Amino acid sequence: MKVVFLGPPGAGKGTQAKLLAEKKQLAHISTGEMLRAAVQEGSPLGLQVKDIMEGGKLVPDELMVGVIEDRIKKPDCKNGYILDGFPRTIAQAKALEEMLGKSGAKLDAVVTFDLDEKVVIARLEHRRGAESRADDEAEVQLKRMREYREKTEPLLGHYANSGLMRRVDASGSVEQVNAKLLESLKA
Ligand code: AMP
Repeated sequence: MKVVFLGPPGAGKGTQAKLLAEKKQLAHISTGEMLRAAVQEGSPLGLQVKDIMEGGKLVPDELMVGVIEDRIKKPDCKNGYILDGFPRTIAQAKALEEMLGKSGAKLDAVVTFDLDEKVVIARLEHRRGAESRADDEAEVQLKRMREYREKTEPLLGHYANSGLMRRVDASGSVEQVNAKLLESLKA
């Protein structure tokens, strides 16, 4: 099973991806986590993306496509994976299709977590208190939201006629959203 998770920052994608990965024995591929680890290590990739991430901007497509291409070749991806945070632009989505096409593979679902912007902002504020992520500052959050709206939201149109789209209402508790997610994947 190969699944893409889409949704604004703060919609709970990461939490739901962890739960689903465990339940279905899938690899959880969070590009945000991978990049934060690279920054922490001070690797060449980390040095390239640090300022971009701290400014709430998206990392260039070529870099991200390379990261994913390497990652999905790893043995833990054999049983399938959840892409949490990739693709985030139309160019990334097209590159993913090409990548999968080469090995005759395809996506099984694209899950979109829908959440009202006011709730998103409240959740991000809460997370700012709970985790200390450099990109969770209020001003940076707004930039990330803008990037989402401008560059990632168009993916909903891109996948609209693919038959892959599953929309999940991301309001409510983790358990409630998880139940809705599992239900949506049965379809
Ligand atoms: P996330 O934890 O998924 O919100 O990602 C944190 C940050 O990492 C984003 O704000 C971007 O700067 C960067 N990032 C993660 N995934 C991508 C991607 N697919 N394309 C571009 N930038 C990304």
